[in-house]
Amino acid sequence: MFDNLFSFFSHDLGIDLGTANIVVHVKGKGIAVREPSIVTQHVKSKKIIAVGSEAKKMLGKTPDSIISIKPLEHGVISDFDAATYLLQYYIRKVHESGSAFYRFARPRVAVGIPSGVTEVERRAVWEAALQAGARECYLIEEPMAAAIGAGVSVFEPTGVMTVDIGGGTTEIAVISLGGIVVNRSLKIAGNEMDQAIIHYIRLRHGLLIGEKTAEELKIKIGSAYKKTKHSKVKTEGKKDDFGFEGDGTIEIEKEGREKVAVIRGRDVETGLPKSLRISESEVREAIGPVISQIIDSVLEVVEETPPELTSDILEHGILLTGGGSLISGVDELIVERTKIPVTVVDDPLTTVVRGTAKLLEDNNLLNQVKVTGGLR
Ligand code: ADP
Ligand code: MG
Repeated sequence: MFDNLFSFFSHDLGIDLGTANIVVHVKGKGIAVREPSIVTQHVKSKKIIAVGSEAKKMLGKTPDSIISIKPLEHGVISDFDAATYLLQYYIRKVHESGSAFYRFARPRVAVGIPSGVTEVERRAVWEAALQAGARECYLIEEPMAAAIGAGVSVFEPTGVMTVDIGGGTTEIAVISLGGIVVNRSLKIAGNEMDQAIIHYIRLRHGLLIGEKTAEELKIKIGSAYKKTKHSKVKTEGKKDDFGFEGDGTIEIEKEGREKVAVIRGRDVETGLPKSLRISESEVREAIGPVISQIIDSVLEVVEETPPELTSDILEHGILLTGGGSLISGVDELIVERTKIPVTVVDDPLTTVVRGTAKLLEDNNLLNQVKVTGGLR
């Protein structure tokens, strides 16, 4: 009875607890939170100092007494307490921003989780949401949430393939009749590309750069496919959706047909600061092997897919989403290597959260796709 009363006043929350970003959708309001999944903690006192973009600003700049934690490093919850804190912080935050009425109400929450997480980890997310004040918490596998967020009808007897390139994981899945038929959760995605850029610049130019600079390089001049005269230039969606509103440090110049970035780092030999010009094609060379591994896995999943579904996928194409899908030309490279058409989902950084939000509006659908194993 009380739950009914609560439901009357509370907002439903859809949450994408990603390895790179946490995104929260509030029913009737839209997306209320888009923040990096990072917390900064004081080592001795265990006190949390910063969360989200505040914490990201501190990345690579912390003294020994403070650590930056990415609680979901590789799609699994590597730091449970920090993950709980993150989830609770943002659930409370959107909740408290409502009127006094809402503050007493307890929301229903749907959380997108990577398909590879164990039962113990699922339970951990579920408990964290309940502890944060959720009345009900539903867990949805990310590929399912992504397909629903992209507007696909997942209950048809038609195979749908989704490829979600996130920060710590790439989720590749084939969905049919409301269930996941084949899936793979690969621990290679955007972060790995950043590391590849760091490695490349150190080997080629003897310059040490940090993770934030590497990510900025990838976002600003990264590409997967050499543009020919004929290929169309994609501009939409290529804005800095996350992290770099105004706090970017890299300057971009145009040199002929190529973009060039001026970056700063520390010279390996002299130990002194040095600046350097890095071209678009160098970044492409650096991240190429990582993208190639992702495509290898896509091909493996295609091979494991039952033939009837493969023909559906050939016909309808692959749905590409996640922050990594914004790298220019990644879709063209997948088409070239797999011979399967690719559609990049609109606004790929919010596909999963939009899926969770849609599910909260449709109890029938929700009951069919929610994860139940190990939960109440
Ligand atoms: P997750 O679901 O794991 O939290 P996201 O889907 O939010 O991940 O994607 C985050 C990843 O996408 C990060 O590695 C980030 O650097 C990358 N990314 C975000 N925007 C862009 C962009 N415009 N171009 C290339 N990569 C991007
Ligand atoms: Mg994601």
